[in-house]
Amino acid sequence: MNKPIQIAVVGSGYVGLVAAVCFAEIGHDVVCVDNDERKVAALESGDTLIHERHLPELLMRYRGSRIRFTADLHEATSGSDAIFIAVGTPQSETGDADLSYVEAVACEIARSLTSYKVIVEKSTVPVYTNEWIRRAIERNGVARHLFDVVSNPEFLREGTAVQDFMHPDRIVVGADSEAAAALLADIYAPLTSGVYYARPDAIPGARSTAHPPPLLQTSTKSAEIIKHASNAFLALKISFINAVSNLCEATDANIEQVARGIGLDSRIGPRFLRPGIGYGGSCFPKDVAAFRSVADQLGIDFGLLTEIEKINTLQKKRFLSKVRSALWTLRGKRLGVLGLAFKGETDDIRESPAIDLVEMLLAEGCSIAAYDPAAIKRTQQELPAGPQLRYVEDAYAAARDADALLVLTDWAEFAALDLKRLYTVMRYPIVVDGRNLFDPKVMHDQGFTYISIGRPAVYPARDAELATPAAI
Ligand code: NAD
Repeated sequence: MNKPIQIAVVGSGYVGLVAAVCFAEIGHDVVCVDNDERKVAALESGDTLIHERHLPELLMRYRGSRIRFTADLHEATSGSDAIFIAVGTPQSETGDADLSYVEAVACEIARSLTSYKVIVEKSTVPVYTNEWIRRAIERNGVARHLFDVVSNPEFLREGTAVQDFMHPDRIVVGADSEAAAALLADIYAPLTSGVYYARPDAIPGARSTAHPPPLLQTSTKSAEIIKHASNAFLALKISFINAVSNLCEATDANIEQVARGIGLDSRIGPRFLRPGIGYGGSCFPKDVAAFRSVADQLGIDFGLLTEIEKINTLQKKRFLSKVRSALWTLRGKRLGVLGLAFKGETDDIRESPAIDLVEMLLAEGCSIAAYDPAAIKRTQQELPAGPQLRYVEDAYAAARDADALLVLTDWAEFAALDLKRLYTVMRYPIVVDGRNLFDPKVMHDQGFTYISIGRPAVYPARDAELATPAAI
């Protein structure tokens, strides 16, 4: 094992915390900073605060040894060789990325810089942010030779964040200085050399000693564009398949067959070709908007990005129409809702299409019993329970006495529900599935009216009526 590198990670959210424990896992000494003192106290006590596989065990393993937490940025950064910035870059009113948190951290780092440090931008930021960070630090009186700024975008997915960090498709390092690039190469060496994967206790995943991840060194600007372009491309794939699913609905074709037929083309690939109620989360919506904004500012017509967003918004409205057409009218209807998180295996509800739909349905006068395996606590803070909205303890309680059950998040737990039990607790056996978790034939055989995305709906009651000879 090489000598541990002293790392500070500023921002202990989904990205910062995962990066920090993973750096500890590959042998580095990490101090994790957050200006939210309650978060720091919780992390110090071993509470990860977010729902991520492997995170609790890694935190438990390294807390107090290779990883510690503080709210004091000066103390954290003074002893570090590399300072990773992993604070939020939310969408501003105009669609631009709000870089004020990044700027605040850059200025704070500048105040405590007395020896050479590499400042690593890990938050997702528009092109030229590295230059702005450098300028901000220089404006605060720091000599140019005392620091370098590099871009090291993060590609982890919530729900599989630790595994994604330890088994990445690629590691991108945008560096305009050899010294900084060399430090980043050392930090990731346990992964890129394959040494980590030989450990018996290594987090399991796709990478191995024989197939370690590549490290791609680029200019800082290229690295910044790689991140925005990657997220925009993934959002494009989702919007594309959603638009194709609408075409399938209009023609009684089946999107599962169509997506498989498209995805088997090795130039396209099968991933991110699952239709649904649109993308959400803390990344795609804001990153597509920020990328569009960058293009606008540079005078480049990138209208495709506007179309991606338009299809995404329409997809939620189309789902609402499906619910309406299944129930005729919505006012006063009792709905069971499965899923609040923006996708399965996470408790993150930021920009969740499920929450948007719950709000739309409440506005239509429905009453809702909602269940999510991990996201209820966070949702309650945004949408408190009331006369129209209840949070319940499991999927069957959500379905009890419901006029229809809506599937809004792709939790594996929902796909494994006992359909017989579900049928007996519902008022009417109607399921509107925004995530295509069930097989329409199975649903038909179990007696459900089942409406999903891009696949022919099934109506067992109607079929039975047609099969019965009409009385003369
Ligand atoms: P987050 O909101 O979960 O975490 C940000 C943290 O930074 C918070 O804990 C906040 O308290 C802290 N913070 C803010 N200002 C600070 C300051 N001045 N000093 C110390 N701490 C401060 O955000 P996140 O989801 O981890 O995202 C961080 C960045 O990573 C964003 O740019 C995001 O786009 C990007 N990203 C996110 C994901 C993801 O899946 N969440 C994946 C890849 C990249």
